[in-house]
Amino acid sequence: MTSPQDLASRSRAAVWHPCTQMARLAHLPPLPIARGDGPWLIDTDGRRYFDANASWWVNLFGHSDQPLLDAIKAQLDTLPHVMLAGCTHEPAVRLAERLSARTGGALGHVFFGSDGASAVEIALKQSFHSWKNRGQPDKREFVCLKNSYHGETLGALSVTDVQVFRDAYDPLLMRAHIVQSPDARLANEAEALAAMRALLAERHAQIACVIVEPLIQGAAGMVMYSPAYLKGLRELTREFGVHLIADEIAVGCGRTGSFFAWEHVLALDEKCNHRGTETQSEARHKWPDFLLLSKGITGGTLPLSLVLTTDEVFAAFWSEDVTRGFLHSHSYTGNPLACAAANAVLDRFDAGQLDANREQAERLTRAFAPLAPRVAHLRQRGMILAFDVPEAPPRFAEAFHLKARAHELLIRPIGNTVYLMPPYLIDDATAAFLADAVSKTLNDVLA
Ligand SMILES: *Cc1c(COP(=O)(O)O)cnc(C)c1O
Repeated sequence: MTSPQDLASRSRAAVWHPCTQMARLAHLPPLPIARGDGPWLIDTDGRRYFDANASWWVNLFGHSDQPLLDAIKAQLDTLPHVMLAGCTHEPAVRLAERLSARTGGALGHVFFGSDGASAVEIALKQSFHSWKNRGQPDKREFVCLKNSYHGETLGALSVTDVQVFRDAYDPLLMRAHIVQSPDARLANEAEALAAMRALLAERHAQIACVIVEPLIQGAAGMVMYSPAYLKGLRELTREFGVHLIADEIAVGCGRTGSFFAWEHVLALDEKCNHRGTETQSEARHKWPDFLLLSKGITGGTLPLSLVLTTDEVFAAFWSEDVTRGFLHSHSYTGNPLACAAANAVLDRFDAGQLDANREQAERLTRAFAPLAPRVAHLRQRGMILAFDVPEAPPRFAEAFHLKARAHELLIRPIGNTVYLMPPYLIDDATAAFLADAVSKTLNDVLA
C-alpha cells in the first residue's frame, strides 16, 4: 500500500485540484481518503474525519449508504446508460414524475443536466429562448444578487458575484445586472426588494429572468434571509413579466427543513389560507418559473442535475419548427444510474426524512448554543449552521481547516465564516462531538 504522504505528493504532481492554488498544497496536503463510512471519511492511515461539509454539500445520508448503493447496483446490472434523445427509461421518467408531484404539478417538465453549472446554463437559455419564441427577443438580460454563486462555467459565472471565482474571467463574461442582496444580519430585506423593483421597473422589457439562491447564499458564506423576501420577489417578477429561477442546487433536498426550500415561501400563505380557498392556478402562481436541483439529489453518489419548469415555459417551445425546440444536450443527460440513486433519495423523503431532519437540526441548535458568546451571528436554517469569527487572523479558513483535522473534523470555512452542512446523521453524541471539535479548533486557531 502507498503511504498517505506518497499519495498526496503523487496527487500534487498528477491531479490539478479544483478550487485550489496548487502552490499552497505543500502547506496543505490533500487528505488521502481510502473509504467512507457513514459521516466519517477514513484516510490511508486509518485515521477518521467527520465530513462536516458533506463533501461540498452533496452527501445526505453518509458515505456507503446501503439503500443508495443497492439502488445503483441494481441499475448497474440492467442498464448503466442510454442516451435520452430517441430513447427513454423508467428511472428518468419516474424521477421526473415524482419531482413534479412534489410541486403539485406546478413545475411538471424536467430537463436533465449533469452538474449544477449545466442546470444554470440550461435555465438561462430556456428563459431567453422562451421569450424569443413568444416574440420578445429583446428580453435577453439576466439579473442576479450581490454575492450570488451559481457555478463556474462562463454562463453561470456571469450570474455569479463571488470575486475569487469571477475576477480573473470578468472580461469574458456576459454583463448581468447585480442587485443588492438580502442579509438577515443587516436587516435590509425591504431595501433589497426596493432595489429590485427599481431595476425591473426600468429594464423589464430587456430582462429575461432573475436567478436566486433561496433562503441561503451558500458560497457567499451562508448568508441567510427570510422567505418573505422571496415572496416579495415572486410578486415583483410576476408584476413585471420576468422569469424567476430558484437555484436550489445547494438548499434543495431537505437541507432547509422542507424538501424544496421554496416550500417555506408557500408556507407563509398557508398560515392565512387555512380554509383552503386557494385555486390550483393561484397555488401554481406562487412557485418560481424554474427550479434547479443537483448536489444532494443523488445523495452524493453520482453527478446529476435537473431543471424543473412550468407548462407555460414548456409550451413556448412546442412547434412543428425544430429550431423553436430546446436543442440542448449533455452526453450523460438523464443517466440511469444517477436517476436510480435520485429515486432512492426520494424514497427516504417519502419515508419521513424531514421529521428526522427537524430533530437533528434541534440537536445542532442545542449543542452549538454555548458557542454563541465567542462568535458572531450564530445562525441556522434546518441542517445548515454557521457563524462568523470576528478579528480572525490572516488565512483563517486554511488554518481552521488544517487544525480541525487533529480533532477528527473535515471542514472548510468560507473566509471568516465557519459552517456545518453535515450528512443527515446527527444524533446527540454526534452533535456534542461536532460542537466540541469546532470549539477546540477555534481555541487552536485563535491561540
Ligand atoms: C454548487 C452550486 C452550483 C454549481 O454546481 P456544480 O455542480 O458545482 O457545477 C450552482 N449553484 C449553487 C447555489 C451551488 O451551490
